[in-house]
Amino acid sequence: MLAKVYSAAVYGVDAYEVEIEVNAASGAPVIVVVGLPDTAVKESKDRVTTAVSNSGYRWPKGRTTINLAPADVKKEGPSFDLPIALAMIAASEQIDLPNFDQYSFVGELALDGGVRAVNGVLPIAIEAKRCGKRAIIVPEENAQEAAIVEGITTYGVRNLRQAFEFLCGNAVLTPTTPEPFSEARQDYEVDFADVRGQHAAKRAIEVAVAGSHHLIMVGPPGSGKSMLAKRIPTIMPPMALEEAIETTKIHSICGFLANKRSFLSLRPFRSPHHTISDVGLLGGGSNLSPGEITLAHNGVLFLDELPEFKRSTLEVLRQPLEDAKVSIARASGSVTYPAEFVMVAALNPCPCGYFGDLKRECRCSSVQVQRYRQRVSGPLLDRIDIHVEVPAVHFKDLTGTHSGESSSAIRERVLAARDIQQKRFAKSQGTRCNARMTSKQLKTYCAIDDDSRDLLRMAMHELNLSARAHDRILKVARTIADMESAPNINAQHLSEAIQYRTLDRNLWV
Ligand SMILES: [Zn+2]
Repeated sequence: MLAKVYSAAVYGVDAYEVEIEVNAASGAPVIVVVGLPDTAVKESKDRVTTAVSNSGYRWPKGRTTINLAPADVKKEGPSFDLPIALAMIAASEQIDLPNFDQYSFVGELALDGGVRAVNGVLPIAIEAKRCGKRAIIVPEENAQEAAIVEGITTYGVRNLRQAFEFLCGNAVLTPTTPEPFSEARQDYEVDFADVRGQHAAKRAIEVAVAGSHHLIMVGPPGSGKSMLAKRIPTIMPPMALEEAIETTKIHSICGFLANKRSFLSLRPFRSPHHTISDVGLLGGGSNLSPGEITLAHNGVLFLDELPEFKRSTLEVLRQPLEDAKVSIARASGSVTYPAEFVMVAALNPCPCGYFGDLKRECRCSSVQVQRYRQRVSGPLLDRIDIHVEVPAVHFKDLTGTHSGESSSAIRERVLAARDIQQKRFAKSQGTRCNARMTSKQLKTYCAIDDDSRDLLRMAMHELNLSARAHDRILKVARTIADMESAPNINAQHLSEAIQYRTLDRNLWV
């Protein structure tokens, strides 16, 4: 007796359908798993047989062959337990389930037959829908996540018995109703209203978010760099449905969705420690999974204490910063993860943190200061559009009763500037914001008059700026003009943009 069921496995940020065949034949009792399964899949045969027995069913007693197809792609993890068990029961009980092929199944089994949550259910549900399945049966804890996908019915199950009896028509399951998606739900725990003072930094942050520019903040410890960074997602435009699904998929694959949560409706804020490995940051590893830059997709990647990161780690960041995605080479081919984020980096002006501070004395030698700064390479800095100094907070700002402007008020202005960009790039593929303009678009949309050109030429010369920095200044100037709804870039927009190259000017010479 041969039973066939469908499941899916995650590769990159998507899933592909996996066909599982279980054949029960006569002969010596042995279970053979074929089709390139990894250790976790091989281990599953013990779990599956025990779970089947403990659920009150029989599993084939003769020679049982389990085949997972396609054979040429590696299958990882325990998520095939549930479909394998169902097919085994069907094969041994000689029950022909006519609707088996209209379902997709995913779930890990506990020894008592309970169904445990697995990672990546959202991409698996999307794939099931794409393959024309009528319904997907998933662990109850993952049901909300799968139910996001329209056009396919989701059933959450608690145990193996519930699933099998439902398929036989002996039990009823209620389809999971998805939580409605709401763009308006921007309930962040922090708000810019909490930040007093730091007007220049806040302005720079607003410009950065308005045009999706990368940002670096320099300032002494305690000046509020992390506090500012954490609030950046709160002024970004709310995620559209498509972005929310994309973000949720990534966090689903990594198993970072909180229990019974469906959409990730808030933009991610990732803040990896400086000891992070290259694999941790970029993704990859033996159990292929996305790294921090992909977890930050559609949100913010905050690198605090930038010079403390390994130089090699910072170097590998350069390519994803340019491309907004990362490709990881594997023996079985390469996988590409999305990585479109706003990078926010922070550093102290020197190892002790008080270089240039008027009240506290810096104890670092000039060699120490130079060495510290040189840990961040010029080419990486070149890719960061906006540099801003975050000085120690004035006493009067700290004690004043005047609270800062709220995130929602700033977000409204950001939205207006993004609106202009959306119209501008409506017809161009790939570009959605000023920071991502191609050099051709730069020529079209960042034309400047003669006075401005002189100003830029002078700045280039005096600050010894690279050609890349020149283009960055124009892009930032375009964003500043958009924030005023100005059709053309004027000298004032340009000087503000030039001023955001402070690191080129003050610190790195
Ligand atoms: Zn110092």
